[in-house]
Parts: sequence; C-alpha cells; structure tokens
Amino acid sequence: MVMRGGYWPEQPPVSSKISLPVPAFNFPDPGPSPQAGLPMVIYPTIQFYDGRMANHMWVQEIPDPMTQATWGGWLEIHPETAGKLGIKKADLLQVKTDYGTIRIPALPIYTVPEGVVAIPAGQGHSNFGRFANGLPGNPFELLAPDIDPVCGAILRQGLNPEIEKTGETFDIANTDGSFFQHGREMAVTISLEERNAMAASGQKPQIYYPLPDGYEKSKDFYPRQMYKEYRWTMVVDLDRCIGCGACVAGCYSENNVAVVKREQVLKGREMSWIRVQRYFDDDGKAAKWLVMLCQHCDNAPCEYVCPIFAPHHSQEGLNNQIYNRCFGTRFCSQNDPYKVRRFNWFTFTRPGSLKWQLNPDVTVRQKGVMEKCSFCVQRIIEAKLDAKVKGRERVRDGDFTTACAQTCPTGALIFGSLLDPDSRVSKLINDVRAYQVLAHLNTKPAVIYLKRVTQKITV
Ligand code: SF4
Ligand code: SF4
Repeated sequence: MVMRGGYWPEQPPVSSKISLPVPAFNFPDPGPSPQAGLPMVIYPTIQFYDGRMANHMWVQEIPDPMTQATWGGWLEIHPETAGKLGIKKADLLQVKTDYGTIRIPALPIYTVPEGVVAIPAGQGHSNFGRFANGLPGNPFELLAPDIDPVCGAILRQGLNPEIEKTGETFDIANTDGSFFQHGREMAVTISLEERNAMAASGQKPQIYYPLPDGYEKSKDFYPRQMYKEYRWTMVVDLDRCIGCGACVAGCYSENNVAVVKREQVLKGREMSWIRVQRYFDDDGKAAKWLVMLCQHCDNAPCEYVCPIFAPHHSQEGLNNQIYNRCFGTRFCSQNDPYKVRRFNWFTFTRPGSLKWQLNPDVTVRQKGVMEKCSFCVQRIIEAKLDAKVKGRERVRDGDFTTACAQTCPTGALIFGSLLDPDSRVSKLINDVRAYQVLAHLNTKPAVIYLKRVTQKITV
C-alpha cells in the first residue's frame, strides 16, 4: 500500500469559481528615440538564452535554428533594407547607442521585417571561458543602465542605434547553403483541408519502400535487398518538429561527434551526423525545418562507388561505415545526394577533461576516415543482446530508440523495424502525409517524412 503511494478515501468532486484580480498595467510611453537609426530588437536565443550557456562547445557548434549560424553573434537585417544601405553579409558594422558601441558582422536574412534589425543575446564574452571568449558581439553593451519600472526586466526596447560600416569584414560561420528550396520540394507542407480530403478518400502515399516489395524490374538495375529479422527505419514528423536542434545535441553526445570550431565550420567541415535544415518560403515570410540524416537508402548510391566496400549494407538495412576499411577517397560523399557524410580532415580531440564525455560504446574516428549516422547501431546491438538475455526472440517495438529520437522534446522522430507490421513506423508510413526526400532518384530512403500541416489562421 505504502509503495503504491498510500490510501486516500474517495472524495466527491467539488465545483468552485476562481477569480483572480488582474492588475492594470500602464506601460509608460518610451517617447521619441534619442537616436535616428533603425529600430533594434535584442532577443534571447534558444541556445544561449541570456548568455549563460555560451561556454558550451556543443551549443556553439550547433547552428542557430533560424539563421543557421554558429560560433559568434550577428546583426540580422532584412535583405531589402541591407540592399538599400549597401550592407552585405559579413560586413563588420559599428553599432552605437548613447550607452555603448559594439562591432558585429551583418547577416541579411528574412528573420526580421524590413526596416528593423535584431541581435541575439548571449555572445560577445571576454572572460567566461575557452568556448565563449572572443566572439562578437554583446548587445547588452548598447543598453541603458536602467530596468523597466513596470516589470523589473532589463530595458531592451526603444533602441534605434546608429549603424555604420567599418570597411572590415568578419565571416559568419553559417551552415546553410541557401535560404530557399529552389523547387526541389525537400521540406513539404500540406494544407489541413487537402490532408483531410486525402484521408477521407482512402488515398495512399506514394512511397518507394526500402523493402524487397519496393523494387521493379523495369526501374531497378541492382538486385533487391533481402531482410530476415529487421528493416530499421525512421519516420520524421515535420508537423511536430519545432527546429530546436536538441536531436543534434543528442547525437553529438551519443556518437562522439567531433566539435570542429569556427575556422573549420567556415570551410564546411562540420561533423554533425544529423542537421536541421531551415528553408524560407519564396516570399521570405515563413520558415520551415527539415531534419536531415543518413537515409539508410535501400538502393544506396554511396555503397556502389567505394573501391574498398567501406560503406556496407547490413542484413537489417543499415548503411554501415566500416572505419578501418576507409582510406578516404571520399567518392561515397560525392555520390551521396543527401550530403550527410562527414570526412575527418584532422584527428579532432577533446580538450582536457572533456574526453571523459566520450561514449565507450562508440568508436572514435581519426584523420582520413569518412563517417555518418549509424542509426545508433550500438543501441540496436544492446537491445538485441538484452532481448536474448531475457529469452525473447526479437527486439520489441519501443524497447529502445536512437539518441536523436530519445532527445526530441516533441516526439517528432520515431524509430523501429518495417518488418514488424505492428510497429509505429509500419503504421506511420501509410499516413497520407508520408513522403521521401529526393524519392525520384530511386534511392528508396528508409527515412520517411510526414508533411507539415499548414492551416489558415483567421483572427
Ligand atoms: S543518405 Fe547518403 S550516405 Fe546515407 S545511405 Fe543514402 S547515399 Fe548513403
Ligand atoms: S526533430 Fe525534435 S529535437 Fe530535432 S529539431 Fe525537431 S523538434 Fe527539435
């Protein structure tokens, strides 16, 4: 009885009315700004908040969800406004108010409306720690030394700083190649009405199954892959994804993914196995995210080009990378249409005690070796051993999941085997929203996406 939490006699439900006094706030009119520049917003970021998280290497390395920038602050300005002012990406700007001056690089982007600029809080430290120090720029230096008399918070509004180009540049280490999808339909949306109509008509999604059934003699050159026990698959529900990047952090932690820092990110050498790609609509007014990782293709273009068979197709559908075969030709990366393979240009090490952070179940990689998402193969092996020890023939759906799926706060990532007809993934791939990225390439990806649902909002 005590172990179950104790005993309480049944009580009849009681109804009561609650009314709380709502305080009347009178926000003082800030009056005309003392400066004549563009209105500026300082905002806390999902990664650094007010800056307290800035000395964490993963948080610096994982791209900001909206700007996709890493390692340092930036000033966001709408591309139209930037064009009118002759400001280009990476122009180092001097931003000045009555209270302070900072130097920060410009980032023309659609995250702000025309005529407004924004700076994320949290960067620009000089004496915090090895990962935070020396990066631009701290917008708190621009603020008046006052607090809001009404709510007691730092006074951040009413800033119209003078903004001038310094003539210097400071490159922004962002990881996005483009703002737009260029008609390739990678991150796909569907209206609620369309989704409901498709569901009502019993329409099935067009999926090229990563299973023997997914092959057609007229289309397929290579023989079908045969599976006996499992076909590991991931479903990514884009309607649940909020672009937070927690899945990326979970993967860094689980899989000993190297942190390469700003200089290498600028050269496109980041090592993340999973990334959250942001795309703006063509008019720049809305953004959406696409979680991208190795698709563990059934018909994997990376496997056929390796001269030494380092990318290997397992009997459970995993596209394994055999590190001690790989000698770094990078043909696989060139042939991978999803660009999820990562090459170790150096042997990246962890400073000081951070080496104790390494997961002993996952091999560390060295210079000259290709790597990528393994669908957390170490967890698959552990789950199979566990099932055996417990006398079960197979791993059951839900016995384990990948690190990214475990970390996702919204449950957007679902992992399981397609050979289990009752698994969540087997059911979800028949959802009318299901689709595969770059399906026309006939790679038969084992990562199936569910389209994001859009709704008209009437106010
Ligand atoms: S997504 Fe790229 S790396 Fe992964 S199996 Fe397909 S082709 Fe290979
Ligand atoms: S999949 Fe989940 S963890 Fe990853 S960005 Fe989307 S919401 Fe965040």
